[in-house]
Amino acid sequence: MKIQNITRRSFLRTGCLAVPGISMSFGPGKLLGRESSKAANMPNINPGYIGPQFFDEREQQALLDVWESASPFRYWGPGEPTKVLHFEENFAKHMETRFGLGVSSGTAALDCAMTGLGVGPGDEVIVPAYTWWSDYTCVVQAGALPVFADIDDTLNIDPKDFERKITPRTKAVISVHLLGGPCDMDPIMDTARRKGVAVLEDCAQCVGGSYKGKKLGSIGNVGIYSFQINKVMTSGEGGAVVTSDPLIYERAARFHDMGTIRQLFLDRSGPSQVETFAGENFRMNELTGAVLGAQLTKLDTMLTHLRGNANAIYDGIKGLPGIRLRHRPDPEGDIGYSVFFKMKDKTMRDRCIKELRDRKVPAGRLSGSVLLPIHESVMNKRTRHPDWPSYNSPHGKAIKYGPECCQQTLDVYDRFVQVRVGPKYTQRINEYIIDAIRQVYPTLA
Ligand SMILES: *Cc1c(COP(=O)(O)O)cnc(C)c1O
Repeated sequence: MKIQNITRRSFLRTGCLAVPGISMSFGPGKLLGRESSKAANMPNINPGYIGPQFFDEREQQALLDVWESASPFRYWGPGEPTKVLHFEENFAKHMETRFGLGVSSGTAALDCAMTGLGVGPGDEVIVPAYTWWSDYTCVVQAGALPVFADIDDTLNIDPKDFERKITPRTKAVISVHLLGGPCDMDPIMDTARRKGVAVLEDCAQCVGGSYKGKKLGSIGNVGIYSFQINKVMTSGEGGAVVTSDPLIYERAARFHDMGTIRQLFLDRSGPSQVETFAGENFRMNELTGAVLGAQLTKLDTMLTHLRGNANAIYDGIKGLPGIRLRHRPDPEGDIGYSVFFKMKDKTMRDRCIKELRDRKVPAGRLSGSVLLPIHESVMNKRTRHPDWPSYNSPHGKAIKYGPECCQQTLDVYDRFVQVRVGPKYTQRINEYIIDAIRQVYPTLA
């Protein structure tokens, strides 16, 4: 059994855009192949999914190892399974933390992290108003109350609004490094330490990124990652938790395995400090661990490609008079997932996107997240049971969501243009995108 080499054709078939609303105009067959080569000056632009573009013999061999040993379960089997075990150790080392835990998804990782931090009924957790569902659902599933803070021109949580939203009940903040760019961690950590608020770093969209020389996930109390296909390195589905705190680690490891703990976790974190409690099954399997072990060896290469292309495009457009790029608190730590700039208003944003797409540039609105406070199910505080604790406390009953609680976020969302960056872009593609933005932007600024 041979895994097919990635040809241009199979790359196209598998490499549809991760950006909803962009993908349609870049469907397979439209851009590559004979038709498009007629337009001699137009390169084929498809950023593709990141991790799968780096699949090679390493993933293939690791999967075969599991298959040959007939041991796809992480703890035991006819062979001696070690894929998840080694992945956890290598991932923690890569992220500069003491402990790593492989789990079944980024959402599961968030639930484990909430458990690790001891978040529960009566607690409030501050969450950015624009992020993925799981950052909201993990708070609700813990029985705690989500409180939204605005994002700013970093496209991440506004440290000032985070501080304003703190109450005596605030237990934690979820610092989401969205769309490949690190949050401004210095003011966030400063406020969190002063106010006794725990920091959970959600690195799902910024795997391998850093802030002022520190790996994302190692700065706060606990970090989480997703390995779903739209993220960076991938096994289709999968997630991880990292921390250097033995108690957080034991609680998270217990929650991911029915509330019980196996010796291998205690060998890492030391003698047990917690009794068995009701948990879940979020264990990672060996096939996933095999793919992730191989992908991890290529994470730095993926980021070198992405960063090189994103920086080339930023360099090519930063001189445009009046252009407002995404504010990057540490450009070196940004993973180069996309390039972002801000327009005067929503109308201009939409016109800019249309003009760029007419030129086959993969431009769109901010993607991959939800404006949570204005979603109907959030505004109506709907949970799995009417008596669920989150919204039945006096503060839960009193809190109001909706557009009033996130005006700055809505303004930021409405004005930013995103141009996707592919790890395999050539210099010619980068230059084509730069030229297109240089043609379009001045007519709309
Ligand atoms: C994708 C994502 C998650 C959840 O990861 P899954 O593996 O899809 O469960 C959490 N947070 C953010 C910011 C994400 O983008």
